[in-house]
Amino acid sequence: MNGTDEVEVFAGEDHRMVRISPPRKLNSNEQQLLGKLADAAGWSQTEFRCQAKHAAVIEECAAGCGTVGLAVDADACPPAALHGTNPASAQGRLRSGEQVRIVILVEQGYLRQMECYLATGGVPRGLPNADALEYYG
Ligand SMILES: [Zn+2]
Repeated sequence: MNGTDEVEVFAGEDHRMVRISPPRKLNSNEQQLLGKLADAAGWSQTEFRCQAKHAAVIEECAAGCGTVGLAVDADACPPAALHGTNPASAQGRLRSGEQVRIVILVEQGYLRQMECYLATGGVPRGLPNADALEYYG
């Protein structure tokens, strides 16, 4: 890490994004989550749907919370007309009863991160099942 590609993650010193090389494809649950989040996005939904299909995972959280850094092929999809905001989120309850939340972060119009965290501040054990969540735009 050279410090120039810092990614903002939620509180917790355990969370540290580690670059993976080469980038990998989203697994089926990640793909489903990102697709549902793109569907939930009100503004720029069309762009996010395209980007969700063309996203690759370039970073993973060292803490194992399931947060992934994303890169989108800019030739494949136009940028969304918003910057630095969270166009969609999801939440649900784990079997433990804890509330888990997922947000997508956008940089320069492109999906940059899908972040998973617990409302209580602990470290989630990976992304929850996409079907178990409710989605908000
Ligand atoms: Zn994490």
